[in-house]
Amino acid sequence: MKQTKKKLPLKVYLACAFLIFSTVLIILMWIFQTILLDPFYRGIKTRQVERCAHSVVQNIKQDDLREMLSVIQDQNNMNVSVYNTTNGEFTPIYTPDRFMYTTSMINRTSMYQYYQLALNNGGEATLKASKNSFLTTPSFHGYTPPLDKESVELLVYVNVLDTYDAQFMVVVESEITPLTSTVETLRLQLFIITGIIIAVSIIIAIITAHYVSKPIRETNEKAKQLAKQNYDIEFSGGNYKELCELNDTLTYSAQELSKVDNLRRELIANISHDLRTPLTMITGYSEVMRDLPGENTPENVQIIIDEATRLSQLVTDLLDISKLESDAVKMQNCVFSLTSCIQDIFSRYNKLIEQDSYNIVFEYEENVFINADPLRISQVMYNLINNAINYCGEDKIVIVRQKVQNKKVLIEVIDHGDGIAEDELKYIWDRYYKVDKEHKRAVIGTGLGLSIVKNILNKYDADYGVYSKLHEGSTFWWSIPIYREDN
Ligand code: ADP
Repeated sequence: MKQTKKKLPLKVYLACAFLIFSTVLIILMWIFQTILLDPFYRGIKTRQVERCAHSVVQNIKQDDLREMLSVIQDQNNMNVSVYNTTNGEFTPIYTPDRFMYTTSMINRTSMYQYYQLALNNGGEATLKASKNSFLTTPSFHGYTPPLDKESVELLVYVNVLDTYDAQFMVVVESEITPLTSTVETLRLQLFIITGIIIAVSIIIAIITAHYVSKPIRETNEKAKQLAKQNYDIEFSGGNYKELCELNDTLTYSAQELSKVDNLRRELIANISHDLRTPLTMITGYSEVMRDLPGENTPENVQIIIDEATRLSQLVTDLLDISKLESDAVKMQNCVFSLTSCIQDIFSRYNKLIEQDSYNIVFEYEENVFINADPLRISQVMYNLINNAINYCGEDKIVIVRQKVQNKKVLIEVIDHGDGIAEDELKYIWDRYYKVDKEHKRAVIGTGLGLSIVKNILNKYDADYGVYSKLHEGSTFWWSIPIYREDN
């Protein structure tokens, strides 16, 4: 929270970004439209002139040279002249009928200078000249001749071409339009464009900032409500995808937090109830035994012991569930006989079978070995068998069946008790869920048993489930891959 005070609002960042963008844009426009305009123009012109001259050179021996030159000249708006220089003479083969540049007086002296420059430069040269004064500075020397205000600059390309029987000189001239006035015009336009761009970017920055940051501010206000545990809040609005997604996520989180909060309240109520009941019994019986000597019977002591055991079981279950859910439990896996493990558990129910005439049966064919934590798997079996005994009904029959199917062992714990209504089935695996919350307290455990079973089986990616019909009984089952089996 404190950190945010040092940060600037989003609209400031957006406005800065827009201003930086427009400034870069304007600087680029200024550089290209004023400083670089002339070099660009000259570069393009030079390439045009050279391209034109090359096509003349390539077609120098063609019969229809004159017509071709006329076409090239008209298309490119340039002067093209070709001379035969075989005998040191400058015999015109083709000169423009009409001079585009009236002052392009290619007199003998200038022709000779063109010729010499081209030869010195390996046969071809690009020069600058003016209409009034002939200048012979090749442009690649990087020197632009000073021109008086009246003169018009010319770009001249000269190519001296040797064929096996003759020598030709091709001269292509193109006028270079002075850009001073164009640059002036562009500069004025750029001033106006700069003003417009700055104004428009400020307006866009303000609008965008409003469009982007206002809904974020609204979401933030609602999120503050959420922090104050007001879960009954809907995050809506948002005019762009990311914010809509954020709002949906926050609405979902609010709903989930509300559920967790309710669950927490329910859990505290349930736990305190379950802790208080045995404690009341223990205190009550202890007081009676203290005050009335005749009540100091083994039955009453047994009640106190039972209730204390119950309390201890509740605390153990709570610890187990919180450890399992927070992944704090490390499974101590090893290969062990599941069949023997179940037989072992069964031996502990012998007293119950004798005293209360329960009929608890283990049906199996193979001795199955699995790779898991024996302690946790016994916990699963204990919880399922205890439930079956608690809810088995009149016939007091509980069947544990072990089957081998597709390299997996399937364990079924079957009883013929009251069963579970279909709409309750999906909740019984939830922490602290009890179908009949009121009545069966005497037999029912903590409401955490199946949740512990679920958590352990989930750790092994095991399949599990329950088939149950009201008044017919339930079959709880789970299945895990077999490590090995002995027949
Ligand atoms: P509890 O400690 O109350 O048995 P469990 O998590 O083990 O808690 O079971 C949750 C609820 O599922 C029980 O309260 C009970 O209503 C129902 N239940 C579990 N096993 C059986 C069963 N074999 N027959 C009928 N109902 C069962």
